[in-house]
Formats: sequence, C-alpha cells, structure tokens
Amino acid sequence: MTEPSIFTRILNGEIPGEILADTDRVFAVRDIDPQAPLHALVIPKTEQYRDVTELAEGDPGLLAEMVAMAKRLATEHANGEYRLIFNNGASAGQSVFHVHAHVLGDIEESKLVGF
Ligand code: AMP
Repeated sequence: MTEPSIFTRILNGEIPGEILADTDRVFAVRDIDPQAPLHALVIPKTEQYRDVTELAEGDPGLLAEMVAMAKRLATEHANGEYRLIFNNGASAGQSVFHVHAHVLGDIEESKLVGF
C-alpha cells in the first residue's frame, strides 16, 4: 500500500496545516511557501488522480468543484480575482502527485511574471 500524500496527512490532522475550506469532496490549505498574499492549494479528498489531466478525464464534476472553491477562497481571502495553476509532471514543477490547484490572489503587479 502506498503512503498517504502530504495533503491527506494534513487533512487527517497528522501534520499541521491551515485548512481554509472543506466540503464533502474538496479541501483547501494555505501553502507553506506562499508566492502571493493568498496562496492556497485546492485538493480533492481522493488521491485517485495524480494530475489535472487524469482528473478532467475521470471526474470533470470534481474539477468544477475545485474551481468553485478557488473562487470562494479568492472572494473570502483576496479581492475576488485569482490565478489558478496546475503543475503537471516533475519537469513542469509538480512535486506532490495528488492533484492540487494553486490559487494565488492579491498578486503584486511586479510579480505577474511570464504571461
Ligand atoms: P507542486 O510543486 O505543484 O506539486 O506544489 C506542491 C506545493 O505544496 C508547494 O507549493 C509546497 O510549498 C506545498 N507544500 C508542501 N508541503 C506543504 C505543507 N506541509 N503544508 C502546506 N503546503 C505544503
């Protein structure tokens, strides 16, 4: 059996983490290494999907629930606008293979790098 992911361990209270939102199927934690005033991770409770490609194919409704939670976090903890980032694969920056979305809000204009 594989070990639970770091996110599941936070959800289960085994390691500390600030849970910002929680529904039947999705939860959000504050990122430990924030890149913006709001930097949350929105995570399905299931570990069944490694990345957003698998999730979109397997359960698009769950992906929609993640987007709804991202919007809610941006409204409650930032100005309502947000960047939503999924890293897919190690070479694209993914380090935890339990699908999660980064929600960034109140981003300083000077830090809007790339595009
Ligand atoms: P990724 O690199 O896209 O897989 O994102 C993983 C994210 O998890 C990174 O932004 C990390 O800062 C974050 N992270 C790792 N450990 C923890 C933790 N214990 N609590 C909160 N966030 C974490």
